[in-house]
Amino acid sequence: MNLTSPNRPFKLLLIGDSAVGKTSLMFRFADNTFIENFIPTIGIDFKVTTINIRNKQIKLQLWDTAGQEKFYNITRSYYRNADAIVLVYDRTAASSFQNVSRWMRNIDENAPDDVLRVLVGNKSDLHHSIIISTQDGKNLAGKYNIDYFETSAKSDTNVNVSKMFYALTEKLLERH
Ligand code: GDP
Ligand code: MG
Repeated sequence: MNLTSPNRPFKLLLIGDSAVGKTSLMFRFADNTFIENFIPTIGIDFKVTTINIRNKQIKLQLWDTAGQEKFYNITRSYYRNADAIVLVYDRTAASSFQNVSRWMRNIDENAPDDVLRVLVGNKSDLHHSIIISTQDGKNLAGKYNIDYFETSAKSDTNVNVSKMFYALTEKLLERH
């Protein structure tokens, strides 16, 4: 038994418009896989993965908000129990970027006050279709005073996706 393990896993919630790549980011990080034609609604509530930081094994529960995105009515309990929220938009879909403010309001209304938030611009591999620039993403994250990451769940290097989840976990560890 590893006595340095935390008692409970950190709970990370992925939110954002439908089809921005939330489920894909979860699969990329937890399984290092990518599914090209993803079936939107699947019956998985969360995935558990363990990462090593500072010689500690940290358990993460990644909660995916499967299929409810259109209604902005992600169950309150998802938010209430979250340690961190990953707010994802698709850099090739302007509407998903415009809706970030709505998702932020949802977090304000439902999540713990001290929940850690990060903004993620996904699908960065689609260079020719990118509408939302790096500067746009940085500016918006700056407005909310949160960190910003650009990811691709498709890229098989997995570097940026891991970087985001590790950075987030580091911050959570600093607080606990
Ligand atoms: P969700 O509804 O937010 O969970 O989005 P999904 O993870 O189901 O992804 C929606 C679609 O976008 C799927 O066809 C994915 O294969 C695709 N997708 C997700 N992430 C990326 C990415 O980083 N790059 C590219 N090119 N496609 C992606
Ligand atoms: Mg999904």
